[in-house]
Amino acid sequence: MASSDLDERFARTLHHRNARLAAGDPLAPPIVPTSTYWLPGDPAGEYQYGRWANPTWAALEGALGELEDAEVVTLPSGMAAIAAVFYATLKQGDRVLLPSDGYYTTRALAEKFLVPLGVRFDTCATAEVERAPLQGYRLVWVETPSNPGLDVADIAAVARRAHAVGALVVVDNTTMTPLGQRPLELGADLVVSADTKGVAGHSDVLFGHVAARDASLIAQARDWRRHAGCIPGPFEAWLVHRGLETLELRFERMCGNAEALAARLADHPRVQRVAYPGLAAHPAHALARRQMRRFGALIGLTLPDRDAAERFIGGCRFVRPATSFGGVHTSAERRARWGDAVPEGFIRLSVGCEPQEALWADLKAALDHL
Ligand SMILES: *Cc1c(COP(=O)(O)O)cnc(C)c1O
Repeated sequence: MASSDLDERFARTLHHRNARLAAGDPLAPPIVPTSTYWLPGDPAGEYQYGRWANPTWAALEGALGELEDAEVVTLPSGMAAIAAVFYATLKQGDRVLLPSDGYYTTRALAEKFLVPLGVRFDTCATAEVERAPLQGYRLVWVETPSNPGLDVADIAAVARRAHAVGALVVVDNTTMTPLGQRPLELGADLVVSADTKGVAGHSDVLFGHVAARDASLIAQARDWRRHAGCIPGPFEAWLVHRGLETLELRFERMCGNAEALAARLADHPRVQRVAYPGLAAHPAHALARRQMRRFGALIGLTLPDRDAAERFIGGCRFVRPATSFGGVHTSAERRARWGDAVPEGFIRLSVGCEPQEALWADLKAALDHL
């Protein structure tokens, strides 16, 4: 999608409620905490019971749907969105290909709850999936850039090859948001997003969504939500709607910061390695330029060892030691503490919206003191 088209789409996202508003209506979407609706006689209308529909979810789905240019189902967390896709698309005997280096809990969910139901899965590294044999899979799962290694997969190439053998392609677009990467336009069938991260952006809510252009796929995900009861709260939906309104500003700032910092970090003598798709040294830099609109706000940073990494994180004033990413505040963590297959000194740095020079001065001082 051309930049001007995406600008138009984000402007429409901001104004998506206008056409439905009448004089005196609140401009902000109302938070509607209700389990039941006024429902005399034969059931009719959109709002009948709180597990099936809620006006605050609908407001957020309207905004996200405008941004994704697709139908959207909101869920109470990123993992709930991933579970919705699994349960909406898979049956006994199906096989799934998952990234070996992607978000760990996606694989854990498959291992603990899909395998006992007769769904098998294999894993493949993100950088290899465009060449992997795809015959026999019902779902091919892509996470790009992968979390935390930031390897990049060619979504269009995977979609072409998967569709040729009758598989569906799902992209976990959490690290990029719909502003940074457009998987549905590249041929993916479904997108999942942990809106907990950049979309909500303020580290104060867990949330997720599924997007698809195929009406039957999205209907299945919605039906799963309704029957499983895995529904978002109206307060949380409202927070995400509010966060989404500044996504474009925050994302531009965070990516601009990350692009500048990645290059400077790569030049610092205490840093062994920087993984960032925006650097020419990244093995998939050319693909990243083609496929992504920006290079994202995550930087993989390798320091000599565990001690140096912990001292670096502890030595920064403007870096919060925390897991998760995509928030207004810069945060960092050593991923080996969770058992990820990365060196002990590997840090996932989530670059925030702080003024760039103040942030760089802080990171540099902490590195200089190691
Ligand atoms: C955080 C994350 C998830 C899970 O989201 P939750 O809201 O924590 O359930 C899924 N995929 C990716 C890539 C993530 O980073």
